Amino acid sequence: MQNVPKEWREEQSVGGGRDKDVKPWKGREALFQKNTGNSKQDMSTGKEKKNGEMMNGGGKGMEGTDKESLMMELTRLVQKTVKESSWWERRGIDITILALSFLLLPPAFLLLGSSQALVFVLGMVLMGVSHAVITIKGTHLASHGSLSESTTWADVWAVFFIEVCGSFTARAGVTSHIKMHHAHTNVIGLGDSSTWKIPYLPRGVYLFIAPLAVPVITPLVALGQLKEHSMGQALRTVLMVFLGLYAQYWLLIHVSGFQCLYSTLLCMLLCRAMFSLPYIHVNIFQHIGLPMFSPTRRPKRIYQMTHGVLNLPRNPLLDWIFGHSLINCHVEHHLFPFLSDNMCLKVKPIVSQYLKEKELPYQEDSYLSRLQLFFHKYQELMVFVPSITELVGVQ
Ligand SMILES: [Zn+2]
Repeated sequence: MQNVPKEWREEQSVGGGRDKDVKPWKGREALFQKNTGNSKQDMSTGKEKKNGEMMNGGGKGMEGTDKESLMMELTRLVQKTVKESSWWERRGIDITILALSFLLLPPAFLLLGSSQALVFVLGMVLMGVSHAVITIKGTHLASHGSLSESTTWADVWAVFFIEVCGSFTARAGVTSHIKMHHAHTNVIGLGDSSTWKIPYLPRGVYLFIAPLAVPVITPLVALGQLKEHSMGQALRTVLMVFLGLYAQYWLLIHVSGFQCLYSTLLCMLLCRAMFSLPYIHVNIFQHIGLPMFSPTRRPKRIYQMTHGVLNLPRNPLLDWIFGHSLINCHVEHHLFPFLSDNMCLKVKPIVSQYLKEKELPYQEDSYLSRLQLFFHKYQELMVFVPSITELVGVQ
């Protein structure tokens, strides 16, 4: 982290001063005001709530301008830890995990050539785990440019992980994840996770069956995105996606000894869909059902992220496969999106302690609890338009 990441600069130059004089969070109920309508209704009511200190664009007349911004203070604490960390901690551990997942591939292809059922299943599991680490943890870190300090290499890794391995377009992936989801977390119509909703599917199908089609749907969605790309980018994406899919197919035929087209494609689908269920679950559990904000009255960044993001508990399997930033450090990841998985884990105690000290929310819930919530409140969470929350503040 030799170069000052863009996010640091943005936070200090754009966000700096916005959080000034923010009063501590005095309990969820005291601060939440839920509008029943959608964003249009919110804009039309024109209600002026005395929440300037928590909302962007407000607080200009606040007193005590010497007081440091909460976000800047937290950023300084995190930045200090980042600067004191070695390359191994900042990038090395995560790069090693990704490299190990590639090293799992040769034994996986060889084991898939076995006629013994148990050995064959072991090969499937190895390939499924390897594919998930590469396409979930790898594509996520690559989309954030966290794998290299060089922007050129960051672009190369984004194309490799997102297009070759993930069968999606790097440009659309980075745009939707970085420029929409991270920039506008839980803002209605921008980063409200509505792309994950398929309201016409029954809850059982959405939660437990449809995710299995992710490996098929992903390249099809990518194809649909190509019309927004230049001819050169579209051609590159098609070639890279084809290369990734064909490489696995070719290796299954020539290394594992598959002889039938359909069994080869079925094996590819099963390996690629092995972690699709938790992938979809995690993506909806950590934002949907939490406060959603109006695009015109969005809270300042630290309130937006602490109210609109939730951490799941540590889970050895998901921590490794998805990465800490998608599981138990999602709050930290949204506050500091350029940090690697390992650095998110390292700064977690600092972030959680700071937020608790300042009486800001630090939201955590278990996987099972979220699954039960989404199952029982599926209509409310995944079908109906979410209501807007305004952080009213201590008045
Ligand atoms: Zn992210």
